[in-house]
Amino acid sequence: LARSYGTSAPLQAEEGFKGHDMLAPFTSGSQSSDVHPLLIERSEGSYVYDINGKKYLDALAGLWCTALGGSEPRLVDAATRQLNTLPFYHSFWNRTTKPSLDLARDLLESFTARKMAKAFFTNSGSEANDTQVKLVWYYNNARGCPDKKKFIARQKSYHGSTLISASLSGLPALHQKFDLPAPFVLHTDCPHYWRYHQPGETEEEFSTRLANNLENLILKEGPDTIAAFIAEPVMGAGGVIVPPATYFDKIQAVVKKYDILFIVDEVICAFGRLGTMYGSDKYNIKPDLVSLAKALSSAYMPIGAVLVSPEISDVIHSQSSKLGVFSHGFTYSGHPVACAVAIEALKIYKERNIVEKVKSIAPQFQDGVKAFSDSPIIGEIRGTGLILGTEFTDNKSPNDPFPPEWGVGAYFGAQCEEHGMLVRVSGDNIMMSPPFIMTPSEIDELISIYGKALKATE
Ligand code: PLP
Repeated sequence: LARSYGTSAPLQAEEGFKGHDMLAPFTSGSQSSDVHPLLIERSEGSYVYDINGKKYLDALAGLWCTALGGSEPRLVDAATRQLNTLPFYHSFWNRTTKPSLDLARDLLESFTARKMAKAFFTNSGSEANDTQVKLVWYYNNARGCPDKKKFIARQKSYHGSTLISASLSGLPALHQKFDLPAPFVLHTDCPHYWRYHQPGETEEEFSTRLANNLENLILKEGPDTIAAFIAEPVMGAGGVIVPPATYFDKIQAVVKKYDILFIVDEVICAFGRLGTMYGSDKYNIKPDLVSLAKALSSAYMPIGAVLVSPEISDVIHSQSSKLGVFSHGFTYSGHPVACAVAIEALKIYKERNIVEKVKSIAPQFQDGVKAFSDSPIIGEIRGTGLILGTEFTDNKSPNDPFPPEWGVGAYFGAQCEEHGMLVRVSGDNIMMSPPFIMTPSEIDELISIYGKALKATE
């Protein structure tokens, strides 16, 4: 295997390779020093090319983010125009720039699951989720509920890798060796029906049980201590977990009952990925706060955002004389170049009717890959819209994982790479989230490479 993909499969040190100078994110230390990284040099549409000119279908859209592919000239022009006009000015102390105001307006307009009042800009999804925690605490202090500070997130969720967003995340790898999660974060059930349902339990019954468990956790901790619940509409990095029927209806009812804010982490799901503009539209989520990043700029510039409900915004504004300045922000909050690119990305999504485009290609993608479900090494293939996960297990059972040292997922990933396609591998989970611009023939190619890699892995 050329790359370990984060599994415990043994690594082959590369002859003569002396390592590189980067402490690489989410890469094992031994991998950085022994295994030559895949060097991606350029991109074109749905493809990326490595330094040797080898072409790969980018089935993960970078890291779930290059929704418009790797060579959208309008995004490049938007960045260039802004760089030539005003490469930077900040948004502190009531100074700001037009692109940041325009993007805030466009984003608030685009979110129709419920009315949102304000947009706050960050550089990433992690910073958006960190901002959520501070906003919620500030809000609860402002409205005289200083004890309402705990957060409930879900096992297997991913919300980022800063101290707070990693704490919210429900993946043990993000906590171990980092002394996390922080004590104010609690984790409730992962809504993965295939893995966790009881014999004979329907999806609806499973959702009811999870909502009851959430309510019991709230009651045990004391409702007056719980500030907010955070969830991805479809869990991404945790293995692409699509919520079971009635899940979000029941969870929202519980959260509302105890005056707990609902934060929807739309970092992967927004802007069309699920065949709706936002994941909230698909699952009828009426959040108090929204986290955005990734496809917001189609990843051409780093940018994230938080959308704030009128109720929260009103409290913050009305109490400002008591609380003073909202002392939170980043030098690059509302960076004009990132905002100019995001404005153009939103324009393109609208003009090209990207939601309909995703809806039109999603069945080919979903049905084409799910046709491999009968493979003896596949436990489950799951997904919706343009997001899909495959979990390798023995005997089609969630309870029969392959021995980690076999590196089944890593082998499949390496086979995809060999055949010219990049996917995300996490243990024996494979994840794909192709760019929205994929053509039917590129999807055919994706399915064909998936099939070849699967055959080799079987
Ligand atoms: N939230 C979700 C749902 C994500 O998938 C991610 C990243 O994958 C993040 C937050 C963190 O975003 P970033 O890597 O931009 O900090």
